[in-house]
Amino acid sequence: MSGHGWRRLIVATLLSAGLVPAALAQPAGATLITNALIVDGRGTPGRRGDVRIVGDRIAAVGQLAPAAGERVIDAHGLALAPGFIDTHSHHDRGLFTARDAIAMVSQGVTTIVVGQDGGGSNLAALFTRLDSQPVAVNVASYAGHGAVRSRVLGQDFKRHSTADEIEKMKQLVKAEMDAGALGLSSGLEYDPGIYSAPEEVRALAKVAGDAGGRYISHIRSEDRYFWAALDEIITIGRENRMPVQVSHLKLGMRDLWGKGDTLIGVLNRARAEGVQLTADIYPYTYWQSNLGVLYPKRNFADSAETRFVLEHVSAANEIIFNSFRGHPEYTGKTLAQVATLRGTSNERTLMDLLAEPGGSGSGIVAKGMDDADVEKLMQWPFAGICSDGQSTGLHPRGFGSFSKVLGPYVRDRKLFPLEEAVRKMSGLAAANMGFANRGLLAPSYFADLVLFEPATVADRATFDAPQARAVGIRTVWVNGTVVFDSGAPTGRYAGRALRREKKG
Ligand SMILES: [Zn+2]
Repeated sequence: MSGHGWRRLIVATLLSAGLVPAALAQPAGATLITNALIVDGRGTPGRRGDVRIVGDRIAAVGQLAPAAGERVIDAHGLALAPGFIDTHSHHDRGLFTARDAIAMVSQGVTTIVVGQDGGGSNLAALFTRLDSQPVAVNVASYAGHGAVRSRVLGQDFKRHSTADEIEKMKQLVKAEMDAGALGLSSGLEYDPGIYSAPEEVRALAKVAGDAGGRYISHIRSEDRYFWAALDEIITIGRENRMPVQVSHLKLGMRDLWGKGDTLIGVLNRARAEGVQLTADIYPYTYWQSNLGVLYPKRNFADSAETRFVLEHVSAANEIIFNSFRGHPEYTGKTLAQVATLRGTSNERTLMDLLAEPGGSGSGIVAKGMDDADVEKLMQWPFAGICSDGQSTGLHPRGFGSFSKVLGPYVRDRKLFPLEEAVRKMSGLAAANMGFANRGLLAPSYFADLVLFEPATVADRATFDAPQARAVGIRTVWVNGTVVFDSGAPTGRYAGRALRREKKG
């Protein structure tokens, strides 16, 4: 028996005889965080207190005395919150070669949810790999509608599916659910999802719902056909009686700007009817996607459509190229700048670029939203925070989303209290993803924690420096292990594969 083992045995014996106070019974590996401002993820006011971590769990919360041999960390009044849960993340790209997950942990994120926008596939392999080769954060995933559609329809995807094909897709969704998917995700503005009939999507979502899972969607249109697209996901929630979440909620074209109240009215009416409808949102007015997504009918050579895009959806000086095949010199330039370089009009340039090989797949960031709408939608009580980000790329959201909310939006603009922001990043996010024992700072919950300084926390990532790290995040624990401290990763890969918790 080890020294610790003897000590535990002696303490247990004395304890049962009533000879030592319970505090001394803590195992030697325990950590006590003292003098913290505890923000528990429920939205209740922060309070001074201490938190004990034993193994991978939170063991106690309150006014706690250090036990002999216990590691004590003085929080000096900093805020201690449940680790943030990014419910719409693309940070799985490159994660196995950058297991520190710095984009995530440096802003306090301890769990990412991937398989987004219809993309998640082969989850059994992903989870098995995470089991043997863990990373610094927990990873959960959805099964992707687009992925199963591709497997069944192949290159012949520009059409509705047959009843037979839907049956095949259902089997694939079922297999992913059995592997631990949280539910089904769709990306209905993208190929191949955009060609699906609503009935196909509803039938596949039902497979996820019947298995106790959820449906989340990058809805069919975030601009021209927005209201119909919203209705589609609400209908799935109503008819399948399953939780549904609008991914990266936005009013994505000029004609929709200022309609935040109308949108919240629609969302609230659906909830009042019993639809389990939620959303996530990132704190930026620019989105990141590909050039083709600007044309829902993929009619890239249509000049009237092109004019419509530039006048109503995103302006030429607000579309920035992230990558363009064959034109590395366009990286970081706006469409208007590229048009000047080429000596053609904005409209002509856009159509010419789309006609080039791979043109529609070019990565862009583009302004689609209005600040006031983003702020209003973020305040909807059922909207959690997400990044929609990745660790590389031109968009700062991959490194900045959570800290941007805590700093500029909460502290500077006072959009909502700190406690509400933390709830949106943890307790609400966990509920919206179906995590039963993460997302709250409470006994028996997993010890995913973030210690941060409310007075200084802020994002630093910009379009010029998209990988600049946030400031003000002091220490991050994942499953009881410190993965980030004082500005640096610790090299501990304490994250786990989070398979859907099956209802017994
Ligand atoms: Zn998306």
